[in-house]
Amino acid sequence: MNLKAALQEIIKGDVIDDDKSLEAFSKDASIFLIKPQLIVAPKDSEDIKKLVNFVNNHQELDLSLTPRAAGTCMSGGSLTESIVMDMTKYFNKIIKIGDNEAIVQPGVFYRDFEPETLKKNLLLPCYTSSKMLNTVGGMVGNNSAGEKTLTYGQTERWVKELKVVFEDGEEYVVKPITKIELEKKIKQNDFEGKLYKRIYELAIRNWDDLQKAKPKTSKNSTGYYLWNVWNKETEIFDLTKVITGSQGTLGIVTEITFELIKPKLETAMLEVELPNLSQLDDVVNEVLKHQPESFECFDNQTIKFAHKYIPDFSEDFKKHNSDPMQLKLLPSFLRDLFKRLPALVMIAEFTGDTEEEVMKQANGAKAALTKFTKIKTNVVSSKDDGKYWILRRDSFNILRNHSSKDLRTAPFIDDIVVKPENLPLFLPKLQKTLAPYKNKIIYTIAGHIGNGNFHIIPLMNMNKPEIRALVPEISEKVFSLVFEFGGSMAAEHNDGLVRGPFLKKMYGEKVFHIMQTVKKIFDPNRIFNPHKKVDATFEYSYAHMSGGGITVQDYAKK
Ligand SMILES: Cc1cc2nc3c(=O)[nH]c(=O)nc-3n(C[C@H](O)[C@H](O)[C@H](O)COP(=O)(O)OP(=O)(O)OC[C@H]3O[C@@H](n4cnc5c(N)ncnc54)[C@H](O)[C@@H]3O)c2cc1C
Repeated sequence: MNLKAALQEIIKGDVIDDDKSLEAFSKDASIFLIKPQLIVAPKDSEDIKKLVNFVNNHQELDLSLTPRAAGTCMSGGSLTESIVMDMTKYFNKIIKIGDNEAIVQPGVFYRDFEPETLKKNLLLPCYTSSKMLNTVGGMVGNNSAGEKTLTYGQTERWVKELKVVFEDGEEYVVKPITKIELEKKIKQNDFEGKLYKRIYELAIRNWDDLQKAKPKTSKNSTGYYLWNVWNKETEIFDLTKVITGSQGTLGIVTEITFELIKPKLETAMLEVELPNLSQLDDVVNEVLKHQPESFECFDNQTIKFAHKYIPDFSEDFKKHNSDPMQLKLLPSFLRDLFKRLPALVMIAEFTGDTEEEVMKQANGAKAALTKFTKIKTNVVSSKDDGKYWILRRDSFNILRNHSSKDLRTAPFIDDIVVKPENLPLFLPKLQKTLAPYKNKIIYTIAGHIGNGNFHIIPLMNMNKPEIRALVPEISEKVFSLVFEFGGSMAAEHNDGLVRGPFLKKMYGEKVFHIMQTVKKIFDPNRIFNPHKKVDATFEYSYAHMSGGGITVQDYAKK
């Protein structure tokens, strides 16, 4: 069968197989490289339904469907050998922005969405550091989060309703429902009824195990959020909780209703420079007492890169900040920071309704830090804070764009999270774990320090098999440490290919099996984004690393 012709026959959208496009869709921001067989760009939900039915009706062809939005996933979530579905080409309309919510198609870029919500003084507060690059559908796919998550939580909290095409080739509205509505749905003798019944029973039957296995952190995007699907107190059943963060492994999201907030008007920032990490935990916990809305950090390696690529930072800064004076001052700010080169810079943002209120909060936090003698603190008003945000948000992207033939960004321990109160014990152990690799890999640390969430991004020569073999070795060691502290291996970047194989270790045999059951209930024929999350294996993932595969034997030798 000529697959391209067969698909073009049934859908109104595009079917693409030119080399350049296939090449472009072989990569995302992860360490993997997988070339798809075909790219489809569905025009509407009818197209998606037809694709689902086609794949289901031709199981002899062993096809699957992987939705892809902007392709900035760091865990390999949007990569496939089979059919990749480009959601940005046609599913890119903002349908409505209401008084406190927005209805939007999943392929809308966040950078196009935010200006429209801001026109109504509304904001989706789980936006990412990659907000200029990613879509809102990708945020739902990964259960993304960002600088405001400390106060506002991650994407799952802001999803009110979804439209999803499930395995039976039908599109459904998925939203929180009452117990009476659930009982009615369960009585339906159809695909939807059975789905609700089985997921409800699974969540209830395993309630205690699920609650126990839930990471003890303020953020998590691993596994399926089964523990939040049924609320015992309100008796609300909410299937959006398992679909958000499922990376397209349970169905294809075709429409999203987000709840939005009215952002606070005024901000002030407390900047803290640490000469070393010895007091980090105490300083973090002291700042947290003052309840900043965001609390972020970046390290000296980030400053070194920013200094090296000042023109790039200036170029990106222009997109966020139109004040020519601020732009002019950026290079001298970066040069000064480079001269001081603190081990870590932390930025805590306080928000409120008046300038007086926020300056008081930031100054209060600054005053509380005077007991730490070796640190440098500085209160920055909202007109001056852009330069700090550009460093925090842009560092990974600049690093990624300056990868050389030999060294490239290699995210695999890029998103670990523990409770901030565990930092005093956790951080020295993490440093000890990474110490033997200091001469082999350079890495930057940035992240959401207020949540205890660190992005550790090494630069590695992925063309060397012995360097690639460090990926499983370091992952194993770092994740084991994170699990010892009840943390999660991914706060916001999800499992995909890179962390999926470690889910059994993170959740234990029983809860991992429950999560596999979720996948089987939604997708018995494995047609939705296989090899990710609970369907991932070490063998498959490590065979598809960019630079070349490694086998279990390769990394077992180490
Ligand atoms: C420089 C940089 C900085 C980053 N910073 C952050 C950060 O601060 N916070 C954060 O959370 N992430 C961050 N990321 C990772 C990534 O940008 C986010 O997770 C983002 O939300 C993914 O969006 P995307 O549009 O690129 O989605 P994609 O990468 O295309 O897809 C992400 C996942 O969602 C699935 N998916 C896409 N569309 C659908 C759909 N319609 N239905 C079902 N599933 C779907 C895909 O299959 C895939 O598994 C960063 C990445 C980069 C490169």
